[in-house]
Amino acid sequence: MFYDLHAHSTASDGTLLASDLIKAAKNADIDVFALTDHDTVAGIELAQAMAKTVQLYFVPGIELSVTWKGKTLHIVGLYIDIQDQLLRQGIEKQLAFRQWRGEEMGRRLAKKGISDIYDKALEYAGTGVLTRTHFAKALVDKGYGNSLPKVFKHFLTLNKPGYVSGQWASLQDVLAWINAAGGLSVLAHPARYHLSKTQLRQLMKEFKGAGGDAIEVISGSQIRKEVPTLAALAKKYDLYASQGSDFHDPQYPWTRLGYLPTLPEQCKPIWQHERFIHCFQ
Ligand code: AMP
Ligand code: MN
Ligand code: MN
Ligand code: MN
Repeated sequence: MFYDLHAHSTASDGTLLASDLIKAAKNADIDVFALTDHDTVAGIELAQAMAKTVQLYFVPGIELSVTWKGKTLHIVGLYIDIQDQLLRQGIEKQLAFRQWRGEEMGRRLAKKGISDIYDKALEYAGTGVLTRTHFAKALVDKGYGNSLPKVFKHFLTLNKPGYVSGQWASLQDVLAWINAAGGLSVLAHPARYHLSKTQLRQLMKEFKGAGGDAIEVISGSQIRKEVPTLAALAKKYDLYASQGSDFHDPQYPWTRLGYLPTLPEQCKPIWQHERFIHCFQ
């Protein structure tokens, strides 16, 4: 079985419609696939219907933003009940902040003479949730840089003109929402947060203490050389290991579908979790 438990559609900052994403996953010989859009479940029903048609095991998911010690972390929820009230209320709050943050980013860029970016970003977002990826595309489009990583670095990160610090939910709240919705919680790409070893251990401890289930040992958006360290951390804190492409766009070569390495031997794969198997049947 090939598992990919982290991917984005046009419901957030991916470029494939949720149903097309499912077809692409099927074509890439993926057996079990999760849709995990940023702070939204808007693509789930469309994905679920297509998964049934093409006979792919589908995992309803989400990637929720968290503010932890002033940093933004991402927590993936898998097998969530998208009708759950607590989760839905949580999502509403996240989206309200996203909306305000997007407008504020537009205002701050405009103050620096970088105007008309907000409207272009909205165009890129279409009916999906507005993210920094859409601002990055707008900036490239208007000639402020020639690649997404470059415009992120110069405009959309800490101390740069378009950066607005996160005011997302707390780690405890997000884990409570996922838990209420019957889901499993996964700390996404832990190697991407620029945490010291001490901070990373503290995060593992808090995450485990608050009921977290797994960490992404393998992620298409995290450097491969971190895999042994993350596998050791998962073992130390008795957490399951997850894996996902973090797929956004067929044009990004670093997050192709169907090309993940295997989890190290010492890992307990999240699909061996009792609730994963239960939901799977
Ligand atoms: P947001 O949740 O709106 O702050 O947007 C975060 C998203 O921006 C991430 O999920 C990535 O898809 C994208 N992103 C963040 N940093 C970079 C980067 N350096 N280069 C390209 N994309 C990035
Ligand atoms: Mn993204
Ligand atoms: Mn992420
Ligand atoms: Mn992601």
